[in-house]
Amino acid sequence: MARDYYEVLGVGRDADEAAVKSAFRRLARELHPDVNAHDPDAEAKFKEAAEAYEVLSDADRRQLYDSYGHEGLKTGGYQPNFGDFGSISDLFSAFFGAGGFDAAFGGGRMRGGAVQGGDVAVAVAIDLADAAHGERVDVAYDARTRCSTCNGNGAKPGTPIETCERCQGAGQLQAVSRTAFGQLVRNVVCDVCGGDGRWPRDPCETCRGDGMVVDKRRVEVEVPAGIADGQRIRVTGRGHAGERGGPNGDLYVVVRVREDERFLRDGSDLVTVVDIPAPLAALGTTVDVPTLDGLVPVEIKAGTQPGEEIRLGGRGMPPLQRGRTGDLRVVVNVTIPRRLTREQREMLETFAGTLTDDNQRGDEGMIAKLKRVLAG
Ligand SMILES: [Zn+2]
Ligand SMILES: [Zn+2]
Repeated sequence: MARDYYEVLGVGRDADEAAVKSAFRRLARELHPDVNAHDPDAEAKFKEAAEAYEVLSDADRRQLYDSYGHEGLKTGGYQPNFGDFGSISDLFSAFFGAGGFDAAFGGGRMRGGAVQGGDVAVAVAIDLADAAHGERVDVAYDARTRCSTCNGNGAKPGTPIETCERCQGAGQLQAVSRTAFGQLVRNVVCDVCGGDGRWPRDPCETCRGDGMVVDKRRVEVEVPAGIADGQRIRVTGRGHAGERGGPNGDLYVVVRVREDERFLRDGSDLVTVVDIPAPLAALGTTVDVPTLDGLVPVEIKAGTQPGEEIRLGGRGMPPLQRGRTGDLRVVVNVTIPRRLTREQREMLETFAGTLTDDNQRGDEGMIAKLKRVLAG
């Protein structure tokens, strides 16, 4: 059963053409797919409103409808035909032209050029281990968003948007200044309407006529394995909302990788230091070395010298794109025992008395020794 057209548009039987048009405009604004993406009935409702508008805005059809109702229209040859459109967006384009309903009705802020929304940058801090394995992080930030109360047009719902009196709808004002070369005329954006050429008589209370509000937003971002401190991840279209039909800005997530006191990062390699008492370095031992995946036993060969490096292949940072995973370089810091007990001292004296040239490092000349010391 078709609903009464006046009821559909929410106007009285005596509504004039302007009232019919404005009622339809209001409905169209409410049902626009950009605004109302989640209402499954929006399309059906819009078709119904469009049909009511087509009839009531046409004097002949309206008279037919007033006298004979829906049946009268059918016999009069009017056949609503909105079923053939693929989507509600297509339907809006067909109904309002390429500019959409904003251009057709001046409901939005389409007068000035479209403006892309600004980018938003937000920082997140992650641990080195998470940077190595990759992580999903929840990012919270503030961004300008189209006001949902007025759908971005800045007007209190149901109130008109009028031509700006200051710029007469041009959106621009001419600023004349006198210079040494004569008069200079510049166009500047109108300070009343901000370039729209139109402004709401009764500003929307939610956004105070701006059409935009600042919203708290959350987005989950995939931080890729191997990311380095200070690198940015771009999330397209998640920045500030565009104005006058312009695209949204982007969100940049700046990833700070917290320092890990166990490791230094050297490119894709990680470097760590283990302390080995001199006697154990001489005898050889096994120590637990921290890696990103926990402690790993590492053999310290007998006779290991101070500053020697042991490479654990593939225990470093993974490549961000292509390439190989880095190594974990374990630097052996041979420590000399201090504050010896009497007993220790005696043993060490006995031991020292047995040392020969054979016990000294023989594979390194003086220059190599100095280089090693200076490099450290
Ligand atoms: Zn608003
Ligand atoms: Zn203006």
